[in-house]
Amino acid sequence: MTDAPSDDAAAPRDFIRQIIADDLAAERLPHGLVTRFPPEPNGFLHIGHALSISLNFGVTDENGGQTYLRFDDTNPVKERQEFADAIGDDVRWLGYHWSAGLTHASDYFERLYEAAVTLIERGDAYVDSLSAEDIRAYRGTLTETGKDSPHRSRSVEENLDLFRRMRAGEFGDGEHVLRAKIDMASPNINLRDPTLYRIRHASHQRTGDAWSIYPMYDFAHTLCDIFEGITHSLCTLEFEDHRPLYEWLVERIPHEYPPRQIEFSRLAVAYMVTSKRRLSALVEEGHVTGWDDPRMPTLAGLRRRGYPAEALRRFCHQVGITKKDKLIELGMLEAAVRDTLGSAPRRLAVVDPLKVTLTNVPEGDTEWLEASNHPNEPEQGTRKVPLTRTVWIERDDFLEEAPRKFFRLKPGGEVRLRYAYIIRCDEVVKDDNGNVVELKCSVDMDTRSGGASDRKVKGTIHWVSAEHSLPATINLYDRLFREAEPARLENWQAAINPDSLTVRQGWVEPALADVAVGDAVQFERLGYFTPDTTTTDDAIVFNRVVTLRDSWAKLEREALAGINAEA
Ligand code: ATP
Ligand code: MG
Repeated sequence: MTDAPSDDAAAPRDFIRQIIADDLAAERLPHGLVTRFPPEPNGFLHIGHALSISLNFGVTDENGGQTYLRFDDTNPVKERQEFADAIGDDVRWLGYHWSAGLTHASDYFERLYEAAVTLIERGDAYVDSLSAEDIRAYRGTLTETGKDSPHRSRSVEENLDLFRRMRAGEFGDGEHVLRAKIDMASPNINLRDPTLYRIRHASHQRTGDAWSIYPMYDFAHTLCDIFEGITHSLCTLEFEDHRPLYEWLVERIPHEYPPRQIEFSRLAVAYMVTSKRRLSALVEEGHVTGWDDPRMPTLAGLRRRGYPAEALRRFCHQVGITKKDKLIELGMLEAAVRDTLGSAPRRLAVVDPLKVTLTNVPEGDTEWLEASNHPNEPEQGTRKVPLTRTVWIERDDFLEEAPRKFFRLKPGGEVRLRYAYIIRCDEVVKDDNGNVVELKCSVDMDTRSGGASDRKVKGTIHWVSAEHSLPATINLYDRLFREAEPARLENWQAAINPDSLTVRQGWVEPALADVAVGDAVQFERLGYFTPDTTTTDDAIVFNRVVTLRDSWAKLEREALAGINAEA
């Protein structure tokens, strides 16, 4: 592929890649390696899906072979085309492409029906007419075996007739189901005659009203794997107990190559929820502004937040594929983002402005000073930043009652304005309530950055010219949850961080007018930022992607040590 992700020099190694390497070495794959990523279009993809995507598409990028993007659209009640479109966008954005094509389980509805007929003809499936409630009662429990439905012994002819009429729409929802005839006494509940088809008089986003029966996930998924010649069906650990059913179906349905299901552990990241049910609740209950809210762990949200696709791929490689469930530090994800953004151009912006008047700079004067675009990458060149009589500095870079080791600005103290001069704070102006509203400072004109003077002060702060800078709305994001593992809590919504978003009205240097959505810059001393998708010619909006340092690292490590030890 053209946009082949090649973030880490060494290809990742894990038990699934080892199995694939062995199969290839032994020439067990006559048609090559074939994988699929099978999302259900009932929500947006989240960071957990990124791991599955990077595995399924990654192994064919690395070894040759084909990958399908296959929508598992078997439940028309919950699925929407809008979600399918968003999923396609996300996969492409992550840097992958479906070399084998984009398919839908619904593309195979006719073949799935035929396969069900084959099972009935073999005596491996029957139409059951028990109520949903009775089916549940007959199924038994983990400690109690199930018992046979009275309809289990229907003749093949009767089953074929009923199933045909189910399809024809002769019955109401729930009147009958088609079940596999396996073993009601199996210790594995998934083998106790699982339902294969149910009646659902619902319009499907792709097939309209053509069908009044819809296949169940396990049946549809296994059969689609067979139809598409999938060699390695990679899924998460919760499907481990379904594997015997997968294999039972593969044995009975004609295939060219028997697909093999292999499970790996789900990605779970601290301070995030990653289940579409909960993500959908966050949207519907209004805790966030939408699926692409920059606080959401959805790929659309992380993208809008400014996380580069490369950082997510890098993170997935670092997490790796294992069989062991563990909670991954959010700090590890943020570190991957910082590593990826290391070359972002440096810029000056003030998010919480305090006015400073430089008393010995004449009104109306502008001095254009040279500022480097990256301290360690001179090839990025320089730009000019304007210095004027009035500038903005960060409110917390001034303290009236400063401790001795405070090396920023204090009354009578000195500090360097980045790329400019050393200034001294001569006077503090307050309003009637005693709030500091302005500082009057004088500039030591002999101390221009890069000039002859080698006079030094301990602190350097960032600033922008009041006259030339542009007003900007700046969204400072923090983690969406206060608890490391919110999904564990009964009332997980209560763990939502009320301070997950702080909106500031700040000022940014003129060069920041031209940053494109999707590009990132470093606001010096503040973090990495990217224009929000709502940025227009009249309104500049920046999202903080990530801070420059992980201030939570120690706390998080302690919290997770406990949780992962327990797991
Ligand atoms: P959710 O539980 O969030 O609703 P899902 O498993 O129902 O997710 P699907 O759309 O069915 O969502 O998932 C598509 C694929 O992504 C599946 O193969 C699934 O195993 C994988 N997947 C889902 N969540 C994760 C995760 N957290 N880590 C790794 N893979 C995941
Ligand atoms: Mg699922």
